[in-house]
Amino acid sequence: MSSSPLPDVVVVGGGIGGLGAAYALTRQGLRVRVLEQAPEFGEVGAGIQVAPNCTRILHDYGLLEEAKELGVVPRAMVMRDALDASELTRLDLVDLERRYGFPYLVIHRSDLHGLFLRACRRVGVELVTDAHATSYENTPAGARVTLANGDVHEATVVLAADGLHSVARALLVDDEPVSSAYVAYRGTVPVAETTGRPVDLSEVVVYVGPRCHFVHYGLRGGELLNQVAVFESPKARAGMDDWGTPDELDAAFAGTCDAVRAGIPHMWRDKWWRMYDRDPIATWVTGRIALLGDAAHPPLQYMAQGAIMAIEDGWGLAEHVARLTGAGGRVDWDAALAAYEAVRPEHCRRVVLTARAWGELWHLGGEPRERRNALLRGREPHDYTYTDWIYGPTALFPEDEPPMYPVVPLADAAPAR
Ligand SMILES: Cc1cc2nc3c(=O)[nH]c(=O)nc-3n(C[C@H](O)[C@H](O)[C@H](O)COP(=O)(O)OP(=O)(O)OC[C@H]3O[C@@H](n4cnc5c(N)ncnc54)[C@H](O)[C@@H]3O)c2cc1C
Repeated sequence: MSSSPLPDVVVVGGGIGGLGAAYALTRQGLRVRVLEQAPEFGEVGAGIQVAPNCTRILHDYGLLEEAKELGVVPRAMVMRDALDASELTRLDLVDLERRYGFPYLVIHRSDLHGLFLRACRRVGVELVTDAHATSYENTPAGARVTLANGDVHEATVVLAADGLHSVARALLVDDEPVSSAYVAYRGTVPVAETTGRPVDLSEVVVYVGPRCHFVHYGLRGGELLNQVAVFESPKARAGMDDWGTPDELDAAFAGTCDAVRAGIPHMWRDKWWRMYDRDPIATWVTGRIALLGDAAHPPLQYMAQGAIMAIEDGWGLAEHVARLTGAGGRVDWDAALAAYEAVRPEHCRRVVLTARAWGELWHLGGEPRERRNALLRGREPHDYTYTDWIYGPTALFPEDEPPMYPVVPLADAAPAR
């Protein structure tokens, strides 16, 4: 434990990423304070998929068994065509667990967030609400955050886990969120209300279609069916402001198969999520201020890795802190932040760019859809070429990062003609 009167770390943002980092760092004996702008800690949304690269970390934290009790461990992930419902390919999640050593889990977002919140409380993280950060500054002793109400919080290190619209990100890059013109509707339905539909709660199912896709899986021990409906908004493409409205949802799925159309009336229709990401950046650290989670690498959600990357960031940083803590508990923060920045941005760059590519593949129509379907149908169900680099152990050093497929880094690949 540091003898400084300041907290060792101030984390801005109490989402899954911020709380995950706060918990990880407190486990290393650091004093951590989380500043959250909302009046309460909480999560909006429905389900979240948690792949083995994250359940491995939950296991390390001693939180996996509780997460499994709160969620569902499905047996398969199945991809179907959204127009004719035919099966295109599948992942055997039982075999996947054998391969990677940890399960693929689906869980309610608020349950995962609540799991971290309780864990933070148990280890004594200081949790502050109504704390909207407006500016950041490096200081001789570390870094400082100023809030909208004028309060100032200083620490040896400040982690900005303030999401897609991060204030801190402007310290590192002058960029804006990139609109995909796609929008997501979410909804949970009591399983009792799904009778007559081909719903198998042991499966995560994604129906891929022209400019749209639909996902469903069970939650809360199988009491609820989680649904996500995603489509390209014609109004967004036309440059209109009020895009993604329910009339567009209905039109986007009108031509899909019965199983998908049966799910659409059960989507929440009063709230929708426009899908943005940001171009990857290689620099996440300036002095003693570092980005983490969506603030650093907001992805389109097609790889289901956004929250996982945020959790990995916190775990990885804490591992470097453990490695670089000397006698008397003094952390070599410059080395820890440099090690964090040496590996996490490259991994997250791959995920963000691959998610964009997956979106294009999923949303094909016409003849390209037929060709994609033929390729997917030919895939061997136990071929892990496309998952090893992502579901394997989280790399702490650049040399541990497994090669991805295709091996050519996307940024260096020749543009398609
Ligand atoms: C439809 C959809 C499905 C998804 N599915 C998955 C999935 O299956 N698996 C997965 O891993 N990921 C998924 N994601 C992505 C995932 O939700 C995000 O990547 C993840 O929530 C990012 O966590 P975060 O803590 O970095 O940011 P956020 O969740 O955005 O949290 C940021 C926090 O910071 C607070 N904050 C913001 N600004 C300030 C400020 N100035 N001062 C103080 N506090 C501030 C906010 O109130 C919030 O609490 C999905 C996303 C969407 C939209």
